[in-house]
Amino acid sequence: MAKRKFKAKPFKNWLDILAKVCVKTDANFTCEIRREGCAGRMMPLDKNCQWCHIKSRSSNTYRWLRTNALCGCGHCHQWAHANPDAFGAWFAEEHLGDYLFLNFPMHPYTWREDDFKKEERRLLLYAAELNVDPLNVPVSYRTRFMRAMEALKG
Ligand SMILES: [Zn+2]
Repeated sequence: MAKRKFKAKPFKNWLDILAKVCVKTDANFTCEIRREGCAGRMMPLDKNCQWCHIKSRSSNTYRWLRTNALCGCGHCHQWAHANPDAFGAWFAEEHLGDYLFLNFPMHPYTWREDDFKKEERRLLLYAAELNVDPLNVPVSYRTRFMRAMEALKG
């Protein structure tokens, strides 16, 4: 049987799901931006519990890194988008090492199937380390998540 052709777009959606649940689990579903009016701790699958990026998600190099993301409530996420300079300054002050890392110039690089698969493995290992609860993965991806975690152990 012919091997199914690799499709980057749906695979990126899957990596997004993994990265999101890891960031939120690591932050204990609590907003890490903490502006006035912040929602604080949230329900794991609440739409208000969001995956917030420091640098744009457009680069695969940074897209799924914990370093490039925060768990944020909708209120603080909106504030960050509306005030990018203040947000950047706040981030640099709170997370100087991450800020410097994210602003280090990178060679442009086009990802191949292998790179996406490596990133998946890295995220699955991180999810295992964080002991991510499958119930915190959106239901449409839960079975895939549980199978992937099983395969990781096998
Ligand atoms: Zn908040």
